[in-house]
Amino acid sequence: FLPHLIASLEQVDQTYIMVKPDGVQRGVVGDIISRFEKKGFKLTGLKLYQCSKDLAEEHYKDLKLKSFFPKLIDYITSGPVVCMAWEGVGVVASARKLIGATDPLQAEPGTIRGDLAVQTGRNIVHGSDSPENGKREIALWFKEGELCEWTPVLTPWLRE
Ligand code: GDP
Ligand code: MG
Repeated sequence: FLPHLIASLEQVDQTYIMVKPDGVQRGVVGDIISRFEKKGFKLTGLKLYQCSKDLAEEHYKDLKLKSFFPKLIDYITSGPVVCMAWEGVGVVASARKLIGATDPLQAEPGTIRGDLAVQTGRNIVHGSDSPENGKREIALWFKEGELCEWTPVLTPWLRE
């Protein structure tokens, strides 16, 4: 009884993961999705999407004053991205670990950026940096009705 109660109190978070235009062009979408699937998180939203300048600027609004901001907006709007919502206990921090450091040359081998990229300006994937931003970004990139609530049959094989 008690372990079940404790488990049910564990917070399930959401994170927004996005394959950036370079990841789509380079054909590594499947590889990236696969890493989150194999880890054991739950996919709740997925789409290929050409985003507007306004949406890119809203998504990255905290970086507005950075010198690289205009280049970043050009990069993110340069082609379609793959938008994903993933759910699970600890998913935000875990996804950041799977993604690796912002500068791919500093990212550990085994991480997405460490394995697949060489430059900060082409670092192929985005992941939310907090549960609050996870919620904010999912609400920004997905409309109601684009997200699915479902129960994966593997859940008892992933969590006691
Ligand atoms: P992240 O959370 O690891 O994605 O890193 P940040 O939130 O600090 O920055 C957001 C994104 O802006 C990064 O993933 C890069 O695509 C881009 N970026 C950050 N720093 C630089 C920079 O110094 N130069 C360029 N060209 N892009 C940058
Ligand atoms: Mg960030």
